[in-house]
Amino acid sequence: MVELFDTHIHLDRLPPEQLAAELARARTLGITSFLVPGVTPAGWDGLNLLAEEHAGLFLAPGVHPLAAESWSDKVQERLLCLLEHPAVIAVGEIGLDNKIPVPMVRQEITFRAQLRIAVAAGLPLLLHCRGALPRCLQIFQEEQGPGVGGILHAFSGSGEMANVALDLNLTLGFAGNITWPEARRAPEVLRTLPATAFVLETDAPDQSPEPHRRERNRPLWLSLIARRCAELRHCSLEEVAAQTTENARRILHLT
Ligand SMILES: [Zn+2]
Repeated sequence: MVELFDTHIHLDRLPPEQLAAELARARTLGITSFLVPGVTPAGWDGLNLLAEEHAGLFLAPGVHPLAAESWSDKVQERLLCLLEHPAVIAVGEIGLDNKIPVPMVRQEITFRAQLRIAVAAGLPLLLHCRGALPRCLQIFQEEQGPGVGGILHAFSGSGEMANVALDLNLTLGFAGNITWPEARRAPEVLRTLPATAFVLETDAPDQSPEPHRRERNRPLWLSLIARRCAELRHCSLEEVAAQTTENARRILHLT
């Protein structure tokens, strides 16, 4: 039986009445662990409740670049308190996104503040870096992020950027985009990475894999991403599952 770890899934954005059944379906395919990232401070309490209701859930509370302008001393205090919750194993998803209308200055302030909190707490990070990867990695390094490491979520950068990230103690997260026929870089990078360098994620309800591109993404479809990964790397699904689950547990300090 394979065991898979979804390292980035927004379970709080799935219909709540379907959640138990959706997770049960996923579990029948061996998907037993789910890391749920924070997005806005308003959503944090909901994440705690989810982790208390469902088995196999871990949390990475934090402020997404989209909500960067909500950062304040009070929010910082709340985040520090949240880190005490037993399901919290990382801080996320944090980073920079230059495709959204949030001023980069505010994004950088919020990103740096949370990097410092994670580093002080010894917690790994879930990074969201869209259209600003070099700057993201530069700040990550300046704030001592490599000391705690983390996952670079939804990686679609070049092989060169992959190497820079790996040298900074980051693991690359691959999502549904590796199944998309038009995707070039991500599948190519994944094909040649060392077995210890990557993890898998659905990013549900976003980034649905083939053949479900037009539908809302679901937890059980991590199995489609894992299957495509096995195809790309010419190995078995069992090997992919064992490697990526071991990688997730290592980078998230669960072993
Ligand atoms: Zn996300």
